Amino acid sequence: MTTTSTLDPENWDDFRAQAHAMLDAALDHIAGARDKPWRPVPSDLGQRYAIPEDADSGLPPEQLVEKIRRHVLPHHGGNTHPRFWGWVQGTGLASDVMAAIASTAINGNLGGRHHGANEMEREVIDWTRRVMGMPEGSSGVFVTGTSQATVLAFQAARVKAIKGLRTRGQAGVRLTAYAAAGVHNATKKALEALGIGSDNLRLVPLMDGKPDPTALRDMLAKDRADGALPFLLIGTAGSVDVGAFDDLNTLADLAEAEQLWLHVDGAFGAWTRLADEPWRSLSDGIGRADSLALDFHKWMYVGYDCGLVLMRDEEAHRAAFAARPDYLQGADTGLAGGEPWFCDYGIDLSRGNRAIKVWCALQMYGQAAFAEAITDNCQRAAQLGELVQAEPAMALGAPVISNVCVFTARSDLDSNAQSTLNAHIAQTLQDSGTAVFSTTKIGGTTLLRAAITNHRTTADDVTAAIAAVAREATASI
Ligand SMILES: *Cc1c(COP(=O)(O)O)cnc(C)c1O
Repeated sequence: MTTTSTLDPENWDDFRAQAHAMLDAALDHIAGARDKPWRPVPSDLGQRYAIPEDADSGLPPEQLVEKIRRHVLPHHGGNTHPRFWGWVQGTGLASDVMAAIASTAINGNLGGRHHGANEMEREVIDWTRRVMGMPEGSSGVFVTGTSQATVLAFQAARVKAIKGLRTRGQAGVRLTAYAAAGVHNATKKALEALGIGSDNLRLVPLMDGKPDPTALRDMLAKDRADGALPFLLIGTAGSVDVGAFDDLNTLADLAEAEQLWLHVDGAFGAWTRLADEPWRSLSDGIGRADSLALDFHKWMYVGYDCGLVLMRDEEAHRAAFAARPDYLQGADTGLAGGEPWFCDYGIDLSRGNRAIKVWCALQMYGQAAFAEAITDNCQRAAQLGELVQAEPAMALGAPVISNVCVFTARSDLDSNAQSTLNAHIAQTLQDSGTAVFSTTKIGGTTLLRAAITNHRTTADDVTAAIAAVAREATASI
């Protein structure tokens, strides 16, 4: 007799065979990524995923595997494909399979307590800290991504700036923040979510490409005279539009002189730390940040989601989030040991194991392989830029600085016609599975944009994609 009351498989041998089949399907998918570009989503796909009202009894595992193979795997977002350069998205790694299997088996909750996954996360944080050049004793916590890391960082800065903030709130204090060029929407969202308000974000003008110290000092003086409390300076290592970098040493000097908390958004660009010159020095000074937000799921290529916040002052980090009610008391030994607990460094109590993806990747490929892939992505962006400049009709929208290339297919047309054409080309190449560019606007004109955080992209991919853009540009006119 079989029991229906268990959520474990009725027959482990059968489940094992089906799990192996699932693994094979997944590996076929990853290994065959080059043949699987994004495809338009079938109109009935939602219907195929719908949970019926009478879903009281389950499916045998082989039917689940078959459903996944037919209805789940084919409808991916395309970012596993070698010619995917839209937005800023990572490819994922084969080592993620190992990480997912191991972390599924363990099902760790990394909020605290004494077990191996927390030890592993601490080691991965420490490796990242060393790569970024932040001092020993800095703290960190894995989060979904840079957006959440930014919220945690700003909260720590705010708790440091206003006495009693955790209990009394901002209590009428108006905080102001300052950002240099290219600041990401995640910064605005974090300021909004924390109730600081994005109107209290000032953009510091540039002088010779660097934030103008005189302009910043004028802004600070004016805000202080108006009764505000300036607390935060934000730098960007790798802007999302054009891949630009603030001069982080200049910002660190300014933050020191003006006693502001320096936060660096290094979502993808922080990883130029691993690249060869000339790209590595783009992020010089990043280790001087008070807080640094970065992603592993973009330019370290691991699967979603996987981000990190690092903070120079562990005490400030802890002061912002540590809280341990009776039921969460630690102990010297036993399962309640293992201090410090990650729940004291962020807002999550229950947390999954994200660090294992990075750990498996570094174990399997070694740091040098990442250095090579990141450098190669910059070289591919440079190649793209050169091809654009070699095409008489095309033109760059901005210099290629790191891994981002922004360009127009026909610089001879007026702005509106260029916008229409570039948007049309992006869409056509996506729909046909040829290549994925996204678009952005520079000076009001919609341009094609490639952000290469893709370890599968080859020089031939870049050449073929530009040829396709050129063909479309001619065909569409
Ligand atoms: C992607 C990105 C973010 C947001 O990070 P998420 O991981 O998507 O939350 C912030 N800043 C920059 C520069 C980015 O590229």
